[in-house]
Amino acid sequence: MEGVWGNREVPPAETRTVIIRKSTQEVDGIAKAGELVAETIALLGEQAQPGITTAELDRIAEDFIREHGGVPTSKGYRGFPAATCISPNSMVVHGIPGAHRVDEGDLLSVDVGITLDGLVADSAYTFAIGEVDPEAHRLLEVGRQALTAGIEQARSGNRVGDISHAVQQVVEGAGFSVVRSLVGHGVGRSYHEEPQIPNFGEPGRGPLLQSGMTLAIEPMITVGDPEVYLHDDEWSISTQDGSLAAHFEHTVAVAEEGPSRILTAAKSRERAGLVP
Ligand code: MG
Repeated sequence: MEGVWGNREVPPAETRTVIIRKSTQEVDGIAKAGELVAETIALLGEQAQPGITTAELDRIAEDFIREHGGVPTSKGYRGFPAATCISPNSMVVHGIPGAHRVDEGDLLSVDVGITLDGLVADSAYTFAIGEVDPEAHRLLEVGRQALTAGIEQARSGNRVGDISHAVQQVVEGAGFSVVRSLVGHGVGRSYHEEPQIPNFGEPGRGPLLQSGMTLAIEPMITVGDPEVYLHDDEWSISTQDGSLAAHFEHTVAVAEEGPSRILTAAKSRERAGLVP
């Protein structure tokens, strides 16, 4: 899986750009997109009941996004065919919604990017469908803790490696693995910007974090080994060992000082029992 970048392969070095620091106005705009992302994920959580297909969930999400003036960023992005990525169980990311029927005991990872008034926010959440086994439950808890720990390090003056290290410590400290070939990323003016944000690394290393940077921090973690493979649909990525995976993501804005602002958290997330 060498060369996977955010949701695709690494672009050639010469096409990469610098890290964009957004104006306060832009951050507010990304937060508006982020609120719609959060609402969409909460809606998916409510609708993800045993028996529904992931294609049906995708249709519900796309209708909701468009009714609210948004555009699902993933649809048509490098040819991706759907408005959301929905990845069950051992699938880590980029699941193409389709005939899979949600079942009691499943883990279901949903990943939603929305463009609103030209600005993009990106978030993901893994839901437990009904009762899941204790190891699956613990995986979700650790994934949420890892995201929180990563966000806590997204502060002006810190470096990307501080985020990466914090995520890795939480996940590996719990005996789980982080997927190394998939990374978080800058986001806002487009879906995937610099910098890449790995979920492992050394503190104090990597690009300096400065106010106005908007980052998609996204631990992708597994119960077993960290290795993943690409399905022949050229999108879906699953664990090689078949172990369960989870994915939690928020878009945050690095503040002048203090903690970063989470741009993809909204009231309805609480209503749907989403944490954080
Ligand atoms: Mg992302």
